[in-house]
Amino acid sequence: EERTEEAEERTRELEVAKEELEAKARQLTLSSKYKSEFMANMSHELRTPLNSILILSEMLAENSDNNLSEENAEFARVIHTSGKDLLALINDVLDLSKVEAGKLDMVFAEMNMSELPSHLERNFSHIAKQKELDFHILIDENVPNIFYTDEKRFQQIIKNLLSNAFKFTTTGSISVAIRPVEEAVVSRWLRIEGAEYWVEITVKDTGIGIPKDKQALVFEAFQQADGATVRKYGGTGLGLSISREFAQLLGGKISLQSEEGVGSVFKLYLPSLPNGLQMIDTIEESA
Ligand code: ADP
Repeated sequence: EERTEEAEERTRELEVAKEELEAKARQLTLSSKYKSEFMANMSHELRTPLNSILILSEMLAENSDNNLSEENAEFARVIHTSGKDLLALINDVLDLSKVEAGKLDMVFAEMNMSELPSHLERNFSHIAKQKELDFHILIDENVPNIFYTDEKRFQQIIKNLLSNAFKFTTTGSISVAIRPVEEAVVSRWLRIEGAEYWVEITVKDTGIGIPKDKQALVFEAFQQADGATVRKYGGTGLGLSISREFAQLLGGKISLQSEEGVGSVFKLYLPSLPNGLQMIDTIEESA
């Protein structure tokens, strides 16, 4: 009888502890939600004055009959470029905090996949030329033209991956390959309802690569593979975490294979979702 009493006593203790833990978890979720909301509002407020800075500094720098000395015109250009960097950072923080606050809604609509290669050509061939890198984009003929996703967010992911590839590559080549992929391949990590078909978009570079022990880290916000990266290459360490979040909200996933000194391969798997994302189930023993 004594034993039963003791067991009951322990059970009560456990229940109390469990309730306390649950209360703490609720508090944490709430405060991180407030944090994200604060960041989102703050970023939004910062954009308004920054837009004036951008417009006015550009006018100063571009207008040749405003009597600015060459040196002062150069200052105006620096203000403009720094302003643009700041705007990019603010937009990234805004996106990430919206995702965290659960306030970023994807808008699924029809996009034309066959236009992606020429679009990327337009955006990246000048930097490829400048850095003397081979740049190829290949789209498999079996990829259907019409793809259902949030085109804006989809483009942002591809552009983040490609910008990184160009940033961290000094010799060799960068390629993008788009091909259809069997659902069976993807269902090892992901179960999605309503996927019409899947594509795999591979961004491959022959750049500096990412050491094995840093490969998980680079998808975390503000993390870079190498502490010296910021000084050497600039950047915020937000691009990949935003890309990963976006990929998830689009029902897909990003995987990474990389070898230091050899190069990196990022693969983006995405479903075509005519009815948007209904249900997602992630299986977490990753690629
Ligand atoms: P950022 O590029 O602004 O630093 P990202 O989140 O896009 O932020 O990338 C995080 C880090 O991952 C980079 O700082 C770099 O260390 C590493 N990284 C990303 N892409 C590549 C790549 N293609 N090659 C080598 N390193 C990369």
